[in-house]
Amino acid sequence: MVENECDVLVVGCGAAGLTSALAALESGASVIVLERSPIAHRGGNTRWTEALLRLKGGVAPNFQISDDFVEGYAAQAGYHITPAQIAESAQPRETWSSLLRTLPYLDPDVLDAFASSVPPTLKWLEGHGVRFRVMEYPFIFPAPLIGIYGGGEALIETLAPIIERKGANILYEMTAIQFLLDEDLGVAGVHAVHSQEGSMRVRAKKTILACGGFEGNPAMLAQYLGTTMRYTRPVATGGWYNKGEGIRLALDIGAAPAGDFAECHRQPIDPRSSVSEALVGAYPFGIVVNARGERFMDEAPADPLGFLEEHCRQINRQPDGIGYFVYDASIDDVPAWRRMIRSDQQPLQANSIAELASKVGLPVDALEATVRIFNNACSQSRAFAYRRDDAAAVEAYNRGEPFDWTTVMDGFSTEGLVPPKSNWARPLMKGPFGCFPIISSVTFTCGGLKTTKDGEVVRTSGALIPGLYAAGETMGIIYGNYIGATSVLRGVTFGRRAGRHAASAVARKG
Ligand SMILES: Cc1cc2nc3c(=O)[nH]c(=O)nc-3n(C[C@H](O)[C@H](O)[C@H](O)COP(=O)(O)OP(=O)(O)OC[C@H]3O[C@@H](n4cnc5c(N)ncnc54)[C@H](O)[C@@H]3O)c2cc1C
Repeated sequence: MVENECDVLVVGCGAAGLTSALAALESGASVIVLERSPIAHRGGNTRWTEALLRLKGGVAPNFQISDDFVEGYAAQAGYHITPAQIAESAQPRETWSSLLRTLPYLDPDVLDAFASSVPPTLKWLEGHGVRFRVMEYPFIFPAPLIGIYGGGEALIETLAPIIERKGANILYEMTAIQFLLDEDLGVAGVHAVHSQEGSMRVRAKKTILACGGFEGNPAMLAQYLGTTMRYTRPVATGGWYNKGEGIRLALDIGAAPAGDFAECHRQPIDPRSSVSEALVGAYPFGIVVNARGERFMDEAPADPLGFLEEHCRQINRQPDGIGYFVYDASIDDVPAWRRMIRSDQQPLQANSIAELASKVGLPVDALEATVRIFNNACSQSRAFAYRRDDAAAVEAYNRGEPFDWTTVMDGFSTEGLVPPKSNWARPLMKGPFGCFPIISSVTFTCGGLKTTKDGEVVRTSGALIPGLYAAGETMGIIYGNYIGATSVLRGVTFGRRAGRHAASAVARKG
């Protein structure tokens, strides 16, 4: 068996892994990186993301976090820990009870460190050649966001050569499957296996787990998120490489779990497509039915972006975990609806609802009945609720001016229908009719490891696991709905913090 050793071992070469490695190298440590994938796929989920970042503004790149960043995370810091525990968590960490240090809760000092580390980390990345630009997420209301120029792939392909030039060894097709433990049950490296050529022991003074979540592991998905997860798949190829060993191995040696093990970040995609992030985001402009031809959710509630996760959950719970977005030709009144479709597959189309149902494989009578009932509920609806207070808008509408769909919901809701459709409830009458199938994909899982603000992994006893760090998706800080455009930021900020901390701890020990 091959033996290897280094100061800092990094498992995974996505955003968190490469920033850990770079920071550790810059602090004088010797570094080895293990990566399960072949070199062409290096970078896990990071490789496939557009890397939108939750930063302020949107007209020119800047590195200030958005105004709702801290507020959003603080509002979803975990579930029902007691008010006394919350009060205790406001005190300095050194005074915390061992119990508090292990709770599934986003610790205030971890959130502070996240928020305050974003600007210097992005500046640091810019200094290493990473570029930023204004982009937008292709959903209903186009909101300009700052992203990494060239997306996550550019981040990977910029940083990997730099860390190699600085002396790190990246070993591809090498999967970490076991920890090497010292006599205090601290982590002293890993045992890894190559996809074809045997195994390797890498001894390390510090090991950083930057190996993603468990979105690529069906057993863990079913175990933690339930049996309907059998119908999901990672939103892009990179997710398949994240099979959760880092989390599982650490839990097995007593790491405290944190983050929402019952939740993941999801996106609605076309199951027929092989492209990354094959989004079907235009469904609020039609109806969504299940395999029985029945509607089951409000397709256009007040804030569709906020409801995206919930819609995906609801689709995932339908028979075979699939929904069908059905629309009519009047969808073309919404100028850019196709922008919200990223599937490379064409819609199924037909001149009547009955013909469409046959083409899609839905029960004809049921779909016809669903559309008839929906259409009747629309014709009575003139609520105009959202802008009721806006006299000028109501007047403009009454004059027959087209609705500005790009800035607000129209408030046209169904009446007496369960479930309702709260906006854009227009009857489906004009052929040709179209349909895209939708499944809920997993972008990343939220359950992970409890860490300090520098990524040190906490044991269930409240002590730290000697030698072990986690960063990026492997750490658990997200509960409930993901605060969008923050996962790359989590990777790079905590990756850098963990790398620096690990290397300086090695240096201190001499
Ligand atoms: C299509 C898509 C779009 C997204 N859009 C955005 C966005 O716009 N903004 C945003 O903030 N986030 C977005 N995300 C999420 C974000 O990209 C990821 O959560 C983040 O990049 C994860 O970084 P990471 O370093 O923690 O994990 P990853 O980048 O997934 O890296 C983990 C690495 O570990 C390797 N690995 C796993 N297990 C092992 C093992 N046992 N041994 C060795 N190696 C292992 C994997 O091969 C992988 O390379 C998106 C994700 C996807 C897929």
